[in-house]
Amino acid sequence: AKNAGKNRFHMFDPESDRKAQFHRNYLDTLNLALVNNEFVLYYQPKVDLRDGRLVGAEALLRWVHPERGVLPPGEFLSHIHGSPLDHQLGDWVIRQALAQGERWHQQGLQLSLSVNISADHLIQKNFAERLGLALAQHPGHPAHCFELEVLETAAIADIEHAVLILQECRRLGVHFSLDDFGTGYSSLTYLRKLPIDTLKIDQSFVRDMLQDKDDLEIVESVVRLAHAFHRVVIAEGVETMEHGAVLLELGCYLAQGYGIARPMPAEELLSWSEKWQTERAWLKLNMAKDS
Ligand code: C2E
Ligand code: MG
Ligand code: MG
Ligand code: MG
Repeated sequence: AKNAGKNRFHMFDPESDRKAQFHRNYLDTLNLALVNNEFVLYYQPKVDLRDGRLVGAEALLRWVHPERGVLPPGEFLSHIHGSPLDHQLGDWVIRQALAQGERWHQQGLQLSLSVNISADHLIQKNFAERLGLALAQHPGHPAHCFELEVLETAAIADIEHAVLILQECRRLGVHFSLDDFGTGYSSLTYLRKLPIDTLKIDQSFVRDMLQDKDDLEIVESVVRLAHAFHRVVIAEGVETMEHGAVLLELGCYLAQGYGIARPMPAEELLSWSEKWQTERAWLKLNMAKDS
């Protein structure tokens, strides 16, 4: 034991030890944040560019930090990866979104909602069972109005296993989309093998397609690919109406991005939707397309 101790002392690296300690503390803080109800979901609208219809909303996780204010997931999600909190928080997100969907349905807003789930969480044992339970506990939000966005960049080590889980979840009525499509290693394999309904074109391609011809080609190809495989396609990162006009031209009708709306607290969505309907900004897009 004495020798082992000596060896360990020899291997001791203060820099990596400091990092590991920081990570552990951060994870403790995040665990507490969940207990203290410091997480909230923001919602970003998805619209049909042809008629402006609000077709759904994506739930995006935020941490309302007691001192630092509202933090996006880029700040903290990496610390959760691979820990039990990944699944606990993932389950919380699903339940929270279903509860909100139920509230909106009661207020007369029939919204389709999507949540992001990590591939790790998806392939957890009993995932479909827990999802089914959550759906049953929120009967006011129909399962066919619920979608799971799987990160396409996430390495799904065992595709056959993932297919089984997806099929099991689909039997509950929920839909799947591949998020950030085009950025992963195996986009085409996933498209072919996974029973998914929707491709979400990654925002980096959409954002730059007005300046970058290659990105425009990629967006066009993904739209064509989606149609060929009978998948729904939606563009992320629609920052301006000009993006919208090009997407309409390419046959990509569903869109999401800052140019339409930023992610917002749930309480703001109803009034945003009313304002959006009166402004009718999409009409200009369709006129530009037809002229
Ligand atoms: P994502 O699922 O691809 O979500 C889109 C991200 O792009 C969101 O960032 C959104 O705020 C941002 N965005 C939307 N429109 C635009 C735009 O026009 N321009 C630009 N530049 N950005 C736009 P956010 O909320 O910071 O989330 C980042 C990522 O974190 C998400 O990417 C998703 O992968 C992950 N994430 C978010 N919420 C959850 C969650 O509840 N669970 C898990 N596992 N991951 C989550
Ligand atoms: Mg997403
Ligand atoms: Mg995305
Ligand atoms: Mg992303």
